[in-house]
Amino acid sequence: MFDTHLHTEFSTDSKMKIKEALGRARELDIGITVTEHMDLNCPIQGKFTFDVDEYFRRYSKFRSQNVLLGIEIGMGESCLLGDKSIESKYEFDYVLGSIHIVDGMDIYYESFYKDKSKREAYDRYFDTMLKCLKLYDFIDCLAHIDYICRYSKYDDNEIYYEQFKDRIDNVLKVIAETEKALEINTRRLQSKKAVDTLVPIYKRFKEIGGKYVTIGSDAHNDAAIGANFDTAQYIADVCGLKNVYFKQRKKEYVH
Ligand SMILES: [Zn+2]
Ligand SMILES: [Zn+2]
Repeated sequence: MFDTHLHTEFSTDSKMKIKEALGRARELDIGITVTEHMDLNCPIQGKFTFDVDEYFRRYSKFRSQNVLLGIEIGMGESCLLGDKSIESKYEFDYVLGSIHIVDGMDIYYESFYKDKSKREAYDRYFDTMLKCLKLYDFIDCLAHIDYICRYSKYDDNEIYYEQFKDRIDNVLKVIAETEKALEINTRRLQSKKAVDTLVPIYKRFKEIGGKYVTIGSDAHNDAAIGANFDTAQYIADVCGLKNVYFKQRKKEYVH
């Protein structure tokens, strides 16, 4: 197995040392891809960015078959050019694209949801995702499609495929057509309700022509590495999707 999404101390919200991540990966006997946060459009300037030169300088020596160096780019129209130049300048193994910011607001915070119904908030989230997926044609994979469910403030945070069918279909179509991967983020998979609502989305991805998923914990500490991987593999299997990771920007199959 390969944990394709984790944050060490280059991410401004993680204190994990690379050695801790390596130790945990060895214990679990899995590979890892480090994906540090780069959100050039973060409303708090400089938060969620890092020195990429320094990243390669310090971590290149750890690079191996089982330890890969990637980046998680927070996508946004306003930072497309900046992100493009970072992506082309450095030899990442993996470029993961995310939606963290919608309409200039970090959706981690309550202020984004204020005066919005769930429908309005989630529609804006998916509209931004679709727009960015079309602009960011260079990413390898879309991260955590269910990111909004972590932080939204409604009685029921889950994404029900039927409720957001058209928007989800449009997003899945772009990923399928461009042969990118769709991440199964394991952060919320201890919840049966989360799994039950995610499975129809990944099934639909397959129906629409999608083939590839990555599995990533989004760990910010070593204990979270590899969490809920059995459940993620179950989702991939039940939906008929192939589990991959990226090395030198190319898909590798997980056996
Ligand atoms: Zn993220
Ligand atoms: Zn992340």
